Amino acid sequence: MSLAAGIDVGGTKCLGVVIDEHGTVVREVRKPTPTADRLVETLASIVRELGDHASIGLGVPGLISRDGIIRSSPNMITAIEFPVREQLSQALRKPVWCDNDATCAALAEWQRGAGVGSRDMWMVTLGTGIGGGLVSGGALQHGAHGHAGEVGHMVVQANGDECPCGQRGCWERYASGAGLSQLAGGIAGEEVIARVRGGDVASGEVLDEYSEWVALGLANIANMSDPDTIVIGGGVMQNADILLPRIQERFATMLYAPNHRVHPVLKAAQLGERAGAIGAALLHLHD
Ligand SMILES: [Zn+2]
Repeated sequence: MSLAAGIDVGGTKCLGVVIDEHGTVVREVRKPTPTADRLVETLASIVRELGDHASIGLGVPGLISRDGIIRSSPNMITAIEFPVREQLSQALRKPVWCDNDATCAALAEWQRGAGVGSRDMWMVTLGTGIGGGLVSGGALQHGAHGHAGEVGHMVVQANGDECPCGQRGCWERYASGAGLSQLAGGIAGEEVIARVRGGDVASGEVLDEYSEWVALGLANIANMSDPDTIVIGGGVMQNADILLPRIQERFATMLYAPNHRVHPVLKAAQLGERAGAIGAALLHLHD
């Protein structure tokens, strides 16, 4: 049996998994994300605790170049121009594959989740920010420098809200999980949705407005690259039953020439919080 290890380096925790040839998680290790100076040591200890496996992949937030250098990572401020691939490979004396965490999640959903069978797929993750990854013509896309899919920072509002990235009006300011809370005046997204389920009209209006922001970005994505499928993940999509129809309704009218084309199918992600780690484990097959 061929086993592959993958680690998703998150803002607060590192999640390591070992998957079998069917993509099933057979082992799992979690550790808090350390500061950059202890990152390699922590990752190496996760790899050792994961036990026997044939390959190691790493999913990292922010900009990571194709040669495995973390250029900039908002959740790890100290990890700038940090050659994580080379250092981890040296520590373990093994090759290591690296990519952006959202690209890893897209790979996992495409190969083992909601995107199975798609040839042109986007995945967006509505979390603290918005991550994105894409498959085009049946191949995972990295871009010329490894930075493809950063749709969270697509500007949807000129002179809009300030984004930690330094720009204004980025899509993730409005359509991330955190964006829902902001639209609701600081009420947690889960609470907004609970109130909608309870029949609260004002919360329903907030969720309608949020759905419109999500749909706006998805329509831009679809107009740009004509995917057959868009997979939507992140914590808010645990409420896909209430959220997805709202997004779908607005998306269908925002798309360019909606009555004269096949619409991409919008689907809820299936792999949950393990998508990034599973995708990292699959990277060695899709370099
Ligand atoms: Zn931004």
